[in-house]
Amino acid sequence: MTDTSIHYRIRPANPAAHRFEVSCTVMAPHPAGQRFALPAWIPGSYLIREFARNVLSIRAEAGRKPVRLEKVDKHTWQAPALKAGRPITVTCEIYAWDLSVRGAHLDPTHAFFNGTSVFLRAIGQESSPCLVDIQPPDGKTFKNWRVATALEPASGEKGSAKRHGFGLYRAESYDALIDHPVEMGTFSLATFEACGVPHDVAITGRHDCDMNRLTADLKRVCEWQIRFFGEPAPMRRYVFLVTAVGDGYGGLEHRASTALLCSRNDLPYRGMKGLPESYRSFLGLCSHEYFHTWNVKRIKPAAFVPYDLDRENYTTQLWAFEGITSYYDDLALLRSGVIELKDWLELTAKTITNVHRSPGRLRQSLAESSFDAWSKFYRPDENTPNAVVSYYAKGALAALALDLTLRKESRNRISLDDVMRVLWARFGQTGNGVGDDDIRLIAEELSGLNLGRFFANTIHGTRDLPLKRLLSPFGVRLEWERAKTASLGIKTGTEGNELKLATVYDDGPAQQAGLAAGDVLVALNGLRVTPAAFDKHLARLNPDDTVELHAFRRDELMQFSVRLAPPPADTARLLADTATSILRKGWLGH
Ligand code: ZN
Repeated sequence: MTDTSIHYRIRPANPAAHRFEVSCTVMAPHPAGQRFALPAWIPGSYLIREFARNVLSIRAEAGRKPVRLEKVDKHTWQAPALKAGRPITVTCEIYAWDLSVRGAHLDPTHAFFNGTSVFLRAIGQESSPCLVDIQPPDGKTFKNWRVATALEPASGEKGSAKRHGFGLYRAESYDALIDHPVEMGTFSLATFEACGVPHDVAITGRHDCDMNRLTADLKRVCEWQIRFFGEPAPMRRYVFLVTAVGDGYGGLEHRASTALLCSRNDLPYRGMKGLPESYRSFLGLCSHEYFHTWNVKRIKPAAFVPYDLDRENYTTQLWAFEGITSYYDDLALLRSGVIELKDWLELTAKTITNVHRSPGRLRQSLAESSFDAWSKFYRPDENTPNAVVSYYAKGALAALALDLTLRKESRNRISLDDVMRVLWARFGQTGNGVGDDDIRLIAEELSGLNLGRFFANTIHGTRDLPLKRLLSPFGVRLEWERAKTASLGIKTGTEGNELKLATVYDDGPAQQAGLAAGDVLVALNGLRVTPAAFDKHLARLNPDDTVELHAFRRDELMQFSVRLAPPPADTARLLADTATSILRKGWLGH
């Protein structure tokens, strides 16, 4: 341990009460008094979460004497000036009961944490190297626990951990420390190599995963991505930290690992035939988070260099970091041979459908959606479909449109692949942040095209993208299929046996008749409606029929006459021409 390093210790002090004990020792505190803070958010998930709200108690000591800490705002504590050369240790109890990829979770079966939830930042000493002593809970019950993390054991230090063991780990800075989530427990572990880089898959939770099938599929995807950006891979090891639950879905990217939450039924099982949709979507999630190893963890928007962990970090570019990543997640599955062309066409058509069914696309641009992620996309409510466009889904279509434009104009000589590799060389490998115009400038430089209008329309505009026209030269037809039933212009949800309006679409029949989100539908044309029967009732009606709907709002019974609209043509289908297309082959490999 050097004089400049920050020394952390974390211990699941009381698993049944979901309490970690975490300490932070600063060897050379600031002469005017050291400040400590917990982050307000976790990079990759653009919402203020105020992790300090889970601090149950905090105390400080120096030279075995207590030191008074003053809390100066919701997540910052101030220690007094100390005699020179005297280290200070701050110890917190932290409550951990958030089973998500963004927080920390502890019970007697396992522990999971992100550094943002547990490790105090010594303000002004963010670039100091860190040592972390990861300790097991006390007691024989936990003797089989081990550790999965992409943190490196602190080899050379006394008490260094062995791979997958407890003990000392190291990180080069605070930014690195909080970018390596840690799982402890009795997880299943499988290992594979991709382009010579060791990869771990650790699965927590009861499951019957066929680890051989999973690692074989992941290996193909990971190798494809490493070769896509060019060897050597930027990380020495990589860890997939998977938590399998009954029902769940989520992922968060890190520089050498990812935390994933999935349904145990999404995982492959021994003897499984083919590629069920649930497993295909789990592989898509893995592929997505892995692509972030380059795109957002190393190629970063300028606003994230460095992250400001105290407040929102505004950027208009999430469409590029999430949208381009969403475009390549499924494309990597196709181009690495894990899925077939028909799967990819189906997945892409689904994205087109999702975007098309959100009236918010006509109101908010991708740049605006990116900028307002903190207060809009990450805080969805009943009006989100009317107000917000997803920078994931429409961002993926923007990436598709850009790729097709570059490929068609250059006869496949230049593509988005080349743009990504230049971004990697100029920004990912240098640590410089990507400016607002850089992606356009690189695409123009490589292709010789003027893309001003393309970016104005696609990223800053709200008109639908001309996908039909762009796909056609590649032998892919976009067709719109009409719904089978007349439309009320609503999205419903169920609560118990009640049918509730989740969203009322702008300018649709229900809104025009006065229905509102939250209304509980009880009768249609005088007949009781239940979640199970509603669609059957609706299927027997014709466009232009007027129906009487009864609904409760604030427990008051209300009646509405709704004139149905024709079934909307809002389901996209993508069909590949049977004739070989040279352009398509260069793009999709089929
Ligand atoms: Zn992502």
